[in-house]
Amino acid sequence: MPAIWDLPDFDSHEAVHMFDDRVTGLKAVIAVHSTHLGPAAGGTRFWHYPESQAAITDALRLSRGMSYKNAMAGLSAGGGKAVILANPARTKAQDMLDAFARAVDSLGGKYVTAQDVGMSEADMVSLSKVTPYVAGLPDQGGDPGPYTARGVFLGVQAAAKHALGTDDMSGVHVAVQGVGSVGGGLARYLAEQGAKLTLADVDEQRAADLAAELGATCVAADRIMHVEADIFSPCALGAILTEASVAALKVRAVAGGANNQLATGHEGRMLANRGILYAPDYVINAGGIINVLRQVENADDAEINRRIDAIPGRLSAIWVESDSDGTTPAEVADNMAKKLIGR
Ligand code: NAD
Repeated sequence: MPAIWDLPDFDSHEAVHMFDDRVTGLKAVIAVHSTHLGPAAGGTRFWHYPESQAAITDALRLSRGMSYKNAMAGLSAGGGKAVILANPARTKAQDMLDAFARAVDSLGGKYVTAQDVGMSEADMVSLSKVTPYVAGLPDQGGDPGPYTARGVFLGVQAAAKHALGTDDMSGVHVAVQGVGSVGGGLARYLAEQGAKLTLADVDEQRAADLAAELGATCVAADRIMHVEADIFSPCALGAILTEASVAALKVRAVAGGANNQLATGHEGRMLANRGILYAPDYVINAGGIINVLRQVENADDAEINRRIDAIPGRLSAIWVESDSDGTTPAEVADNMAKKLIGR
């Protein structure tokens, strides 16, 4: 097994902390990518990995992603991520969570955690009883989904303006993949503005119910990326923009809330070559983290709204730069983020 420095996802992370608590069985990694702009903020993932190196890779990759996302959201927060290595059954014991909270606490605020895959709201509340370095608790603004959805809506509107020449959404056809917290919220905003909607979800009933409510059309989940529309909005899983799916798209823009949409960097170039505008995922979906970090940032509702309102302007700046020098929007966003974190 190579040393951490030699792993492909190691990106001069400021620190990578490994915790092994023999008494409770806690095994966790906390990766601090950057504290250039403020405390390294990012969620805790509780997941079973077939081998521990995959957990370290996840922590390295996701913490760098948080540095970029927080920087581009205009937050005074750096990027970090914690991964707790779960057993195959993913059972959680209270003493193990307490040990993890002490691990977070031992970093003295250099890392601030939040909820991520596998961690419940109740788990986060229990961590907060041991350490103050927990953000996004239920009494601090709660569910980030609606904030993310509003930012994504503003980003979709900006994409319409850039790709179609109008920010009047009436009649603009948007195909939405996944109608959960983010995609469902987005669909409601779009319907209010008179957009034409095609919806899909693996939970077909969920999509059908929302379509009936909004007067939208439904297609099967495996057809949504083939729909001829103005904008495709991925709001379900990551890595859905593959070579094959990008080749099949019949839209002018891709703008949605899902994390890590591009399977590799190559698909960003493919989209550009096909003349399809791309809204970098971590820029358009930052509404949630903006709200999660409200306490860390000491931001009130007006400030949260102001920051979410800034998302379309940031996307436009990325697209203008991309148009002027031929760099893809994803590359422009990464370069802007790197500059902001002093890299
Ligand atoms: P969610 O669980 O509320 O909704 C996801 C929906 O997608 C579900 O209805 C699910 O059935 C559906 N789905 C799953 N696989 C699908 C597929 N192959 N095709 C169509 N539908 C599918 O989750 P969410 O909070 O809305 O998050 C959606 C995406 O946005 C995720 O990628 C998430 O990481 C990202 N994201 C969410 C937030 C947030 O604040 N919730 C913030 C940033 C990014």
